[in-house]
Amino acid sequence: MEDRSTDVLQILKTYFGYTAFREGQEEIIREILNGRDILAVMPTGAGKSICYQIPALKMRGITLVISPLISLMTDQVKALNEAGIHAAYINSSLTEGQITKALLYAAQGKYKIIYVAPERLETARFLDFACHTEISMVTVDEAHCISQWGQDFRPSYLKILSFIRQLPARPVVSAFTATATQRVKEDILDILELSHPYVISTGFDRKNLYFAVYAAKNKKDKIQSYLKEHDGESGIIYCATRKNVDELYLLLSGKGFSAGRYHAGMSPGARQENQEDFIYDRKKIMIATNAFGMGIDKSNVRFVLHYNMPQSMENYYQEAGRAGRDGESAECILYYSPQDVRVNQFLLDTKENMGDFTEEELQNIRIQDRQRLRKMTQYCTTKKCLRKYILNYFGERTAEKCKACSNCSEEYEDTDVYPIAADILGCVKEAGQRYGINMIVGILAGADTVKLRANRQKENKYYACQSTQTQELLKEVIYALVEEEVLSLTEDRYAVLKWTALAEKFLTERQTFFIARKKKTQKENTPAALR
Ligand code: ADP
Repeated sequence: MEDRSTDVLQILKTYFGYTAFREGQEEIIREILNGRDILAVMPTGAGKSICYQIPALKMRGITLVISPLISLMTDQVKALNEAGIHAAYINSSLTEGQITKALLYAAQGKYKIIYVAPERLETARFLDFACHTEISMVTVDEAHCISQWGQDFRPSYLKILSFIRQLPARPVVSAFTATATQRVKEDILDILELSHPYVISTGFDRKNLYFAVYAAKNKKDKIQSYLKEHDGESGIIYCATRKNVDELYLLLSGKGFSAGRYHAGMSPGARQENQEDFIYDRKKIMIATNAFGMGIDKSNVRFVLHYNMPQSMENYYQEAGRAGRDGESAECILYYSPQDVRVNQFLLDTKENMGDFTEEELQNIRIQDRQRLRKMTQYCTTKKCLRKYILNYFGERTAEKCKACSNCSEEYEDTDVYPIAADILGCVKEAGQRYGINMIVGILAGADTVKLRANRQKENKYYACQSTQTQELLKEVIYALVEEEVLSLTEDRYAVLKWTALAEKFLTERQTFFIARKKKTQKENTPAALR
């Protein structure tokens, strides 16, 4: 045992140039070398690759790494070869001739690690190769893609098991992912038939990151003042659309900020140039869509700002997590506006059917997309600790308050809004539980809109009964009722407010309903929760 651990440490030093293992790495390597299947959930930047690359070097045969993205494979193989480790990839970027050659070399034992796309596993040629070569381990990277409950479900991942079953001997199977809720974890374990696996989740908490949500009316101004205050620091600004990236880029570079941009509409050359300018610190700020960041390992990112809310907590934590990889403090700030919800809803509704899904699968995916968007929106409107919200979302328990997020550092006072809450519930029911948040707020506030008139809601007996309150407060109380599950929002495209089973009880048994409101004396940058 002693021997083995000094041995793997030596490999870490010799090939990768690091002196110590990070959390989880050594145990995973040890368990794999003991022949055990693995499911490892580790946040972005934790160092998952080494966990299968080091055992791959020590095992007798070949390790196949199944990876969804050609660009990731290319980067990994390049890095391995530079470190003196024989590795190759087999994917659609190669010609038939190149594939033949790669398989021939592999069969001759020239490679220890081969990266393949999941689709490749089904081809007769690859299967024939795999059955006549010693495959010691199959590593499934981005393993959440196997689950319909995961954010990037890929049906081709479902083929992995039948591939493994056809091998003459079952290899060690190791699965890695950065984002897995309990349900996704269970799916990975079941679908890959992991036997007595070693399951490990290293902590998701990134203690050096400060989280904040600000409901900003003028996001562009807010971002400019932030950048002025953080002059000279390196950071990423994520936008929901290419158009927003371009607009913000023109604005900021026009004002003299050192900025680059990145989105899928740009030519590969321009993308590459912008990416390298950022990585090598020639440009300080990267303005990008979520196309930017996978496989990028820049350690000194001091802030990740979100100009728009992303589509899911999974996306958010992955993007925000690119800040502070060096362990120094960094900030993750999300500038939220309710319009972001609509933009994202539109993007989700018009998303291409990339994976050739059946109608049923697609339906299922859409429902979950909406649920995830809803959870993301709740992150922007909650008044509770943001870190706790994130960690709970990923299935971790935490202390009540972190004191390092915008909600924990603001001063709040509890306000009883029971009469408003009661009117909201009454209004939702009176209107037939058919409308979304804006309509209900409009009725209570006594708005005089075409839509309201067309739906005869001026006749609603709750019409204008809360007209002395701001619409912001009314929304705030609705969000709180949703969070407490007294009201629910349907999963339809236009989310409709409905009573839950708790609503009746709320009206008959409760006399108070406290929500946290920011103290009046606070200066600017009001958290989203309070606007
Ligand atoms: P992940 O796949 O979990 O996002 P990577 O495997 O890409 O993370 O690793 C992230 C970075 O951390 C890489 O630059 C990697 O070389 C580095 N790294 C991994 N393990 C260690 C270690 N034990 N000590 C120092 N750096 C490490």
